[in-house]
Amino acid sequence: MGFAEFTKTAVRNLFSKPATKNYPKVKKEFFENARGHVIFDETDCIYCSLCARKCPADAIKVDRNAKTWSIVRAGCVQCSNCVDACPKKCLSMGPEYTPVMTEKGCETYARVPDNTEDN
Ligand code: SF4
Ligand code: SF4
Repeated sequence: MGFAEFTKTAVRNLFSKPATKNYPKVKKEFFENARGHVIFDETDCIYCSLCARKCPADAIKVDRNAKTWSIVRAGCVQCSNCVDACPKKCLSMGPEYTPVMTEKGCETYARVPDNTEDN
């Protein structure tokens, strides 16, 4: 690159907007159908374990007896296999990425007992 070209580029960069975002002040806008994280809706879950069986990262655990559904978010690779496999449409992909974590924890969702039959 010649001196004249270099100067032109330097001056242009001096007055143009930065190519990067000022994160976290400026948040990223997610594109449509972005696969950020798995969302679980327990309402219709039948604890069949199909999602866990289809997960290539072994990130999902389902306990049919205890009626719990768990995910290790740090292990999930956002492939969406579990979403496609669920026969009850309990799973979906949210666009935002999982927040940064310091420990590889397991997130567990337990079925809230239905007390309407007690009365
Ligand atoms: S595949 Fe769907 S219904 Fe079956 S355990 Fe997973 S989330 Fe529940
Ligand atoms: S999106 Fe893929 S890696 Fe993540 S929990 Fe579902 S099947 Fe497993």
